[in-house]
Amino acid sequence: MKLFMAALLTETNTFSPLPTGRAAFHGNRYSRNSGSLETPAWGNIPLITWRRMAGDAQIEVVESITANAQPAGTTIRAAYEELRELILADLRAAGPVEIVLLNLHGAMVAEGYDDCESDLVQRVRQIVGPDCVIGVELDLHCHLDETLRENADLVVIYKEYPHIDMAERAEDLFRLALRAARREIRPVIAYHPLHMINMWHTPVEPMKSFVAEMQAAEARGEILSLSFAHGFPWGDVPHVGAKMVAIADGDAGHAARTAQAWGERIWAMREVTRKRFDTPDQSIDAALAAPSGTTVVAETSDNAGGGAPSDCTAMLARMLARGVRDAAIGIFWDPIAVSFLREGGAGAVMPLRLGGKCGKMSGDPLDLMVRVHAVAESHVQSGLSGGRSEMGPSAWIEAEGIHIIVASERQQVFHPDAFTGLGCTLHDKRLVVVKSSQHFYAGFAPIAREVRYCAAEAGILRDFAAIPYQRFKAPYWPKVENP
Ligand SMILES: [Zn+2]
Repeated sequence: MKLFMAALLTETNTFSPLPTGRAAFHGNRYSRNSGSLETPAWGNIPLITWRRMAGDAQIEVVESITANAQPAGTTIRAAYEELRELILADLRAAGPVEIVLLNLHGAMVAEGYDDCESDLVQRVRQIVGPDCVIGVELDLHCHLDETLRENADLVVIYKEYPHIDMAERAEDLFRLALRAARREIRPVIAYHPLHMINMWHTPVEPMKSFVAEMQAAEARGEILSLSFAHGFPWGDVPHVGAKMVAIADGDAGHAARTAQAWGERIWAMREVTRKRFDTPDQSIDAALAAPSGTTVVAETSDNAGGGAPSDCTAMLARMLARGVRDAAIGIFWDPIAVSFLREGGAGAVMPLRLGGKCGKMSGDPLDLMVRVHAVAESHVQSGLSGGRSEMGPSAWIEAEGIHIIVASERQQVFHPDAFTGLGCTLHDKRLVVVKSSQHFYAGFAPIAREVRYCAAEAGILRDFAAIPYQRFKAPYWPKVENP
């Protein structure tokens, strides 16, 4: 038996001013045929799992590209088509295969392609024919369209946000694909669209139990696979929105009924799970009012992982205006500032223009007098699911009692070592601001007295009812109460 695998990922914020082109994929640990042999990172974790499991099952592996770009704006058409053609060329060269496993994101939009994943999978199907098993692993911030459902045999989606379960879901997908290839099961996929735009955090109730109950239903054999596709709110495509996904064994009616039943549970929880965000000042008030300990605040509106520039100054400007001290904030993406700080070196006290460089989402630049505490030539933080996240040349600076991490690579905050790895301690700070939506949570919750979520007016729009969709026209909650 032969397995073909590849990884192509980005999450497209169609409202972001940052283009996603060739360099975005090729500069970020791109690999042509050996991504699964490298150290774990976002793109290759499922491939590492599949290679290991294929070895155990004595299945031959043919590997194509591992390419992933930091979430940003719409992918340039030529960049997508080049990567797609590499995968398809490798697949043709592989000869007949019984299983194709693809690690994709699910919210990749390119010029001329509303759904890159379904375009790719449809072309893969044309090459491999109807009998080959095609399995796809997706991020839960995905859009799902009918073309994908019709052309894939299996769609398995992360269950956890933060995404700590990429390897586990890769294991689920491999096991199901192997059973399907051996004709032990006949997977049929059903979607249940929810007409909802929201974000759901799975470490807290009621979502924590929902995830556990999905896994219990799978373990009891009631259904082959259950996934809750949360959707990605900032992709202006006709099929944006949350969907429940069920895969049954040969019984399309059972798949549809199961997807509907679980989807109705999400709908019933809508008021409890409705996301509300502090203004920057509300989060600062909460931190200042706390008698002790560290308040961790997610500046969700400037999350690189959602396609924001990560150089927005809105929150830092309020911290400076309010005279907050014993605070830390990061990660600012500002390679120009880092180049000046490298020249200045540790110990320098120097003027610095920080942030505000990418457009309206960035706010205005801040002119600061900073002390340089540390400079690293290639800083790395711990990433998701045991991976590593590279920050490139980076610096720890301080301005008016606020400690700031600045990096050359655009990355959201995943782990405290983004700060502490440069020497910036966090336990002695009353306020720690992380430019992230939720992936920081697993690392920061243990050091936080409280975790709060704020959204500034600049950056990614967090009022889901007010996202200025042009191409998505259907009514949705929370814009209307009963879509
Ligand atoms: Zn995601």
